[in-house]
Amino acid sequence: MASSLPPRSSYLKKENAGTARREMGLKVAPRRNVLSAINNGEANGGAPSAPADGGGAEAAPVVEFGGREDVERLLAEKMKGKSKNDFKGRNEQMSDYIKKLRACIRWYMELEDGYLAEQEKLRSTLDAENSRHTELEAQLSNAIEELKAANLDLTRRCESLEETLNREKSEKLIAVESYEKEKQERESAERSRDVLTVELERATHDAKRFSEQLKMVQDTNKRLQEYNTSLQQYNSNLQADASKSGETISKLQKEKSAMMETMAALRECHNSMSSQLESSRASQQEAIRVKEELRKEVECRRAESKQVRDDRDHAVAQLNSLNIELATCKEQFGRASKECECMSTKVSALEETCNTQQEQIQTLQKQLAVATDKLKLADVTAIEAMTGYEEQKEKIKYLEDRLAHAESQIVEGDELRKKLHNTILELKGNIRVFCRVRPLLRFDGDSNGPEGASISFPTSVESAGRAIDLMNQGQKLSFSYDKVFDHNASQEDVFVEISQLVQSALDGYKVCIFAYGQTGSGKTYTMMGKSGIDQKGIIPRSLEQIFKTSQSLESQGWKYSMQASMLEIYNESIRDLLAPGRPNSFDMTTSKQYTIKHDSHGNTTVSDLTIIDVFSIADVTNLLEKASHSRSVGKTQMNEQSSRSHFVFTLKISGSNENTGQHVQGVLNLIDLAGSERLAKSGSTGDRLKETQSINKSLSALSDVIFAIGKGDDHVPFRNSKLTYLLQPCLGGDSKTLMFVNISPEASSVGETICSLRFASRVNACEIGIPRRQTQARPFDSRLSYG
Ligand code: ADP
Ligand code: MG
Repeated sequence: MASSLPPRSSYLKKENAGTARREMGLKVAPRRNVLSAINNGEANGGAPSAPADGGGAEAAPVVEFGGREDVERLLAEKMKGKSKNDFKGRNEQMSDYIKKLRACIRWYMELEDGYLAEQEKLRSTLDAENSRHTELEAQLSNAIEELKAANLDLTRRCESLEETLNREKSEKLIAVESYEKEKQERESAERSRDVLTVELERATHDAKRFSEQLKMVQDTNKRLQEYNTSLQQYNSNLQADASKSGETISKLQKEKSAMMETMAALRECHNSMSSQLESSRASQQEAIRVKEELRKEVECRRAESKQVRDDRDHAVAQLNSLNIELATCKEQFGRASKECECMSTKVSALEETCNTQQEQIQTLQKQLAVATDKLKLADVTAIEAMTGYEEQKEKIKYLEDRLAHAESQIVEGDELRKKLHNTILELKGNIRVFCRVRPLLRFDGDSNGPEGASISFPTSVESAGRAIDLMNQGQKLSFSYDKVFDHNASQEDVFVEISQLVQSALDGYKVCIFAYGQTGSGKTYTMMGKSGIDQKGIIPRSLEQIFKTSQSLESQGWKYSMQASMLEIYNESIRDLLAPGRPNSFDMTTSKQYTIKHDSHGNTTVSDLTIIDVFSIADVTNLLEKASHSRSVGKTQMNEQSSRSHFVFTLKISGSNENTGQHVQGVLNLIDLAGSERLAKSGSTGDRLKETQSINKSLSALSDVIFAIGKGDDHVPFRNSKLTYLLQPCLGGDSKTLMFVNISPEASSVGETICSLRFASRVNACEIGIPRRQTQARPFDSRLSYG
């Protein structure tokens, strides 16, 4: 059985698991070194320990286990009896042992429960951490995906840019090639043009030469013709000569015959004549030969001329063809030069495009480089972010720890502050009296202004701001209070002194501030004030402070809710100043009862009273306006009712702190009492008398209550007036009370002033909670019980 027990270390795997368990508030049985019961058994030399109360099953010894050793020790425990037959002893021992075993099992179950709970908590923490981790991972992977996508996009853009670049380059190459080709063609065209020009020139030259030759040939031809004609002429001349010679011959033959006779004679003559003829024949022969030669020459010249003509025709034809060729060449040249121009413009355009594209390529390359850099940077940033994230995680954890620590410190500090604040107020006294003297008002008395009473404020160190001296019939009366405000004191000066009390209401205390004094002494001015920023009285200023402070406490987890009510007590009856509809008067026919009830927690309720939840200073301002309107309506109806009634403003403050689970409930009562002037002065009769008596009665009931509390009387007469009964839970005990005694400075009011100052002195002398002031032994939250 012992071997089947899980070792203690299997539950607490890590060294700090114990600490974690403590932090999580697990209740694990405290480790004790040894079972007391077992110890007892062993100390008794192995004798079985007897049950504490004689073997009663319910009174088993309390067995506690601290660990495995205890259990093992229990299991190793041996049955020991005085003798074999000591069945009773053995039985008792056995039942004892069984109880221990049960306790052991229970211990194990508790331990297991604790471990299960711990496991559950750890699992939920682990789950939360896991979900956070996955969330962060998802965020990171998202970021990486985005970066990858950006990278891909950039690479794709880069590729497309490179492609464009290549295409542009090839286009450029093609353009350059075509340009080169064009250039070559142009050059060859120019060359052929030059050749043609040369040829043309040569042809022109040839043509010229040929035409010259032709001319020459023509000239020769002409000359030859002339020569021919001259030869023909000569021939005809010769023929004529020949015919003449024939005639001569016939004549001569006749003459021969005639002469024949004379021939003999004449033979000689004849011979000579024949030789003459012979020579003539030879010359004729010679002429014919010449003629033949000339004819041949003419023929030859003719052929030559024909040849020249043919040559000329050929040359002319050649010239014509050359001219045509020249024209086509010229045309071609013009076309070529036009094309050339067009090509040059094209080339320049292409060069321009090339340049711009080169620029584009350069900028794109730059962009690419920048993008690559950015990508690298992004990678680095991602890594940095990752490490930063880890660091931040650690930092956050550390800060969270610190925050938790700081929050607990704040809560402790707040608690301490409240205690100290309360202690200070208690040291000052739970009831305090402030005296306020109002300034002389111009419209009091005659037109020169009222005559002031001789009031002075001692300035000695111990009584400065706390004392007031009054001369009456040559006699000096001195009074001292917790605070004295002279006629120069502003509303702000007054509020500063009571703001701590308002803070107490927020801290959960019950606070009453009264204004006491004769009519016209400044009670309403002190409590309510007048419109105008600096003229505001205690009520609006307190509310401002409460709302401001409650808002600032929100950061510490405090949430406050507030309820306001306003009522008047006149002739011992209550009037609701916030009643909806027409402001009611103290009409006795009204069905409203306004019964005051207190519960055991010190909460007061007034039946039928309107209670309004307020959330801001504006809400309260509206309510105050409504109340003052309600009061002023009453005033006309009820003849100066406002100064003949007590006005009670109540603000219930409940606050709770989610973080600390604290809850407070405070009440702030601000009371503008009815005028305290005595009956004799007002000289009243009838209703007025009744009214004054009622006021005096309720004021003396108030002082009776305060004095009784001060003396620590068993019975405090709260029920003697509506006002004291209404304020019962807020008077005495822990609650704080402040009495303003307002004083009129006029000489004519000296009597009332003395009465008020004496009343205030008596209240001041009765220090509720004196024992606390001296000993501070009383706990803060205990409460005096009355009657
Ligand atoms: P009460 O309410 O005691 O009858 P009021 O508050 O109505 O007296 O005061 C009477 C007059 O004196 C009012 O006109 C008020 O404005 C004025 N008054 C009272 N106290 C002061 C003060 N401290 N400074 C200036 N005027 C004051
Ligand atoms: Mg008043």
